[in-house]
Formats: sequence, structure tokens, C-alpha cells
Amino acid sequence: MAKSITSALRIALIYVAFAALWILFSDLAVESLFRDPAIRSQAQTYKGLCFVLITGVMLFLLVLRNNRIIAEAHDLDPLTGLYNITLFKRRLDRLLKALQPDERLVMGYLDIDKFSEINQQIGFEKADALLIDIAMHIEHLAIRGSVVARLQADQFASARRLDASFNLEEHVNDFQKLVRVRAEKFGLKVTSCIGVAIYPDDGKTSKELMQAATESLRRAKLAGNQVQYHDKSLAEMASQQRQLVADLKDALRKESISVVYQPKYRLNTLQPCGVEVLARWNHPTRGAISPGVFIPVAEEHDLCNEVSGLVFTKAARELEASGLLGKPLKHVSLNISATEFNSEAKMLTLVTYLKRFPTFMPHVRIEITETATLTDMKKSAEIISRLHAEGVTFSVDDFGTGYTSLSMLKDLTVDEIKIDRSFVADIHQDTRSSTIIQAIIAMAKSFNISVVAEGVETAEQMHTLKEMGCEEIQGYYLGKPMPIADLVTHLTQTENTSSAANVEAGAQR
Ligand code: C2E
Ligand code: CA
Ligand code: CA
Repeated sequence: MAKSITSALRIALIYVAFAALWILFSDLAVESLFRDPAIRSQAQTYKGLCFVLITGVMLFLLVLRNNRIIAEAHDLDPLTGLYNITLFKRRLDRLLKALQPDERLVMGYLDIDKFSEINQQIGFEKADALLIDIAMHIEHLAIRGSVVARLQADQFASARRLDASFNLEEHVNDFQKLVRVRAEKFGLKVTSCIGVAIYPDDGKTSKELMQAATESLRRAKLAGNQVQYHDKSLAEMASQQRQLVADLKDALRKESISVVYQPKYRLNTLQPCGVEVLARWNHPTRGAISPGVFIPVAEEHDLCNEVSGLVFTKAARELEASGLLGKPLKHVSLNISATEFNSEAKMLTLVTYLKRFPTFMPHVRIEITETATLTDMKKSAEIISRLHAEGVTFSVDDFGTGYTSLSMLKDLTVDEIKIDRSFVADIHQDTRSSTIIQAIIAMAKSFNISVVAEGVETAEQMHTLKEMGCEEIQGYYLGKPMPIADLVTHLTQTENTSSAANVEAGAQR
């Protein structure tokens, strides 16, 4: 009730503010523009019509937005604030839609054992407090981009993308441990069961997956304090993983990992100012395998330095030959894995690769994720400053997704941060995401660090980011990752379009 009064009040205030501004300035405008009284009176009529039209559209949009916020609030679990089953299904659909063709998803249902006995033992109020506490910690355990929900009384759900390096068993154990430890704080000995389902093995739609997880949970409950997987998933996963490692080693030997380039644009001119190099693997039988799948495999099997070696060398050769370095491409961003950043020997190897390309090296910007810097902040700062001396700059990728985003900026002198695309995707749907983006931009500016928004897919997102003061963007809307030949054409075309626009603008001035 209070919420709907506040939002109605907000709509009324926006309306009153707009009307007041209109009354103040529109008469002034009409009077200064038109001298003839007959035209003036006609202008007054049109002015009135415009007012009705604009406020009509404004009210329509505000009410629409408001209804959406209220509808979403309805779908939150009132006790824990987590999603309820309706919203969980909707978000699961969205996660499934966002998956690349070869990506998988894992979801689990967790059910606390003998919860009715706990209710009797400690009373409803304390049992509710326990559920709230568990919900809060489950939310912390889940990484950004995953979905967590409370389905019913003592049942929680979680879904996330399944990276090849993700240790499913460990993750599932963490959930069970969490319930055990939180309950101990309440003086209780509590166990739980988990039912797991994997996309696409156990189901292709959210409905099928939810049925599979329910079925796994039922079997886990029958066995008591257990984790159950859908039968098909595990054996298949293990054998696929082994084959993938062998194939990746083969691809590295044959140098068949290639690279593509995704431009980064300045928002005020829409001119490309850099590119990010992204690895591509065209598997002989499975077709394209996303780096989101094979990079974690490379990390787990100590192959990432070899992948970087190949990627850096190919990019350096192609870009040096293209003549694009310097202008328009000030920076070339290279991704490295956390395991590389955390190993002195591996970083040294990377520097050796780079030093072979002296005209390429000064443009290199290394993208690291904040988890990479976590292990040893002092050592991270040292590595960064040593490479700064060689002209290499640093960017923090997927910024905002970890817990340390802010504190790492205190200790490390990075040159750029990239706002994670999950915030950009939600910029118009979730006010929390847009607030986080604004805060990141403000903070980056005060630290004098460049800020890039990733994953910009629409004109609306681009305009909103511009209004927020973001300087650079990257995303499918302006440029998808492309091979070198297409990059050369794309950059030439963009430059021509912009010089033509400048000439035209100059002629009009
Ligand atoms: P990333 O560094 O965050 O790279 C951005 C990813 O988002 C790329 O996926 C890119 O194709 C995709 N992307 C760009 N614009 C949009 C957009 O507008 N919408 C959407 N939905 N996606 C967009 P990609 O190429 O599949 O790479 C996935 C991840 O794999 C990268 O995420 C990076 O972490 C890793 N990766 C890629 N190449 C390398 C590499 O050479 N070395 C290492 N260590 N990691 C790499
Ligand atoms: Ca990146
Ligand atoms: Ca990123």
C-alpha cells in the first residue's frame, strides 16, 4: 500500500513539475517567437494541444513502468525477498535464451530436511529467521548472472551457466554446508537434500528442467540427506570433458585457434578507438566452440599460457600488417586468465611473446578480472607497475560482478574499467543496475580511469549510457566481433561516414 502511494505521488510530482515548467517557459517562447496577435493566438492553441499530447504520452509511459515494478514486487517472496517460483521460471527462461549454442546450464532445488520438526522445536518466528538467514547466504553464494529463488516453505532453487571448469559437486556441497552452518548458529543440527538438472541433457525448456529437478529432489529425499543428479548428465559430462581437453591440445599444436576483433567506440563521436581480441575455436566436428567453454578448460589443464601465446601472436601479426595500430586503434585489449596473472613465470612468458612485436606492444591493454587480483594485491600492484613501465596498460573486465570491485581500485593503478554486460542488459529493467552503472561511472571519473560499458545491444542502451556520462562502449549494436579483413573494412567505412558527416556539419555551420 505504502509502495503504491509513493509511486503515485512520484508520478504526480513529475506531472506537476513538468506542467509548471511548461507554463513558465512556453508562454515566454510563444511571445518571443511570434509578434502578430493572430498567429500568437493560433500558437497558443497548438501549444495547448502539444501539452495534452506530451503529458498523455508521459503519463502512459510512467504508469506502464510503474505497473511493471509493482507486478515484479508481487513475484518476490514476502519473507526472504528472493524471487518466487513465477519469477524464477521467467528468469530461467531468460537465462536459457541468453545461452550460446554450446553452453550448458545447471539448476538445483534444495530442500531442508524435516522442516516441520524444526518449526515445532524452535517456533515459527525463529524458523522464519533461519529461512531468511539461509536465503541471504544463498544469495551471496550465487555468482552474478545466476538466479536464486524460494519456491515454497523450505525449498530454494538456483540456476546458472555451467562453465566447463565449474566444479559442480563442490558447488552442491557448498549449498549443503551453508544450510548446516547457518542452522548451527540457531543451535540446530540440520541436513538438506538437493536435486540437480542440467540443460540440455535433462530438459530443453524451463518447464522440463523444473520437472527434472523436482524428480531428482524427490529421489534425493527418498534416500535422505543426499544429492541426486539426473542420470544422463554426469557420465556424459565427464567423457565430453576428457575429449575436449585432448581436442584443445590438438588445436594448439595445429595453431587452429583463431582471433576476431570487437571494436570499442568513443560515445561522443561514435569513432572506434580500440579493439578487443577474442579467441575463436572452430572444432573439426563440433563446429564453433565458445571461449566461454574452452578457456576454463584451458585454465584447468594448464593450457592457458599456450592459448594466450597463440592469440597474442596471431593478433600482433594481423594488426601490425593492417596498418590500423595507433590510428584509429589506440588500444588493443587482450584477455588473460586469472591463473596467468597470478603466476610470475606465466606473466614473464606473456611479456616475452609481446616483446617480439615492438610496434604492437605499446598499444596492448591487458584485461584482467578482479578475481585475478584477489590472491595477492601487493604482487598484483607490482606486476601492473612493471608492465606499465613497458607501455602496457590494464583494464578490469566484468567490473561490478565481484565483491571487491571497490576496494581493488584503492590498491591497483588500472587504466580502464569495463562495466559488466549484465548491468547494461538490465539498464532499463532494473533500477538497481542503472544505479550501479551511474555509481561506477562517477567513481571511475573521480579516479581518472576510463570507463567502457560492455554488451550494448540497442540504441536506447547507448543513449542512456551517454546521458549517464559513460565515455566508451562496446557491443553488438555498433560492432560485433569480426575477422581482421572485416575490421579493416568496418573501420574504413566508419571513418568515411564520420568525415562525410563532419564535412556536412562544417558546410552547415
Ligand atoms: P569478455 O572478455 O567479457 O568478452 C566479451 C564477450 O561478450 C565476448 O564473448 C563477446 O563476443 C560478447 N559480446 C560482445 N558484445 C556483446 C553484446 O552486445 N551482447 C552479448 N550478449 N554479448 C556480447 P566471447 O567472444 O564468447 O568471449 C567470452 C569470454 O571468453 C570473454 O568474455 C573472455 O572472458 C573469454 N575470452 C575470450 N577470448 C579470450 C582469450 O583470448 N583469452 C582468455 N583468457 N579469455 C578469453
Ligand atoms: Ca574482456
Ligand atoms: Ca567482460
